[in-house]
Amino acid sequence: MKRSKKSKPVESIRVCEDCGNPLVWTFIHAGCEYYCPSCGAMGDMFIGNKIHYPRKALIEKAKRIKARFNRYRKGLWSGGGRKRGCELCDKGEYHLQHLTPEEKKAHEAGLRGLERMKTCKGR
Ligand SMILES: [Zn+2]
Ligand SMILES: [Zn+2]
Repeated sequence: MKRSKKSKPVESIRVCEDCGNPLVWTFIHAGCEYYCPSCGAMGDMFIGNKIHYPRKALIEKAKRIKARFNRYRKGLWSGGGRKRGCELCDKGEYHLQHLTPEEKKAHEAGLRGLERMKTCKGR
């Protein structure tokens, strides 16, 4: 599924209650749709503060954070993720329970990347 709303103006951005940086929408943590790559905060779809018609600087920041997050996110498997066409997943396991060595490496690299993204601890 591809989203095609590139030209749509940004109406709102959700920012972290703890550090004020933009949140990302993700499913890497089961039950937590929003994640803050800047401080590691996460929660359901109601966390954070919604900024309506954000300034350009905030939009740019959100884009940067999202792009970097997506780079690390690629190799990550969420606790509740299943891989299409995977035999063991079809049997009911989560893919995280039986990663191949390469997938495990990519997963761990992704986790380390997310750790490095946390720049504003305690702010
Ligand atoms: Zn935060
Ligand atoms: Zn699997």
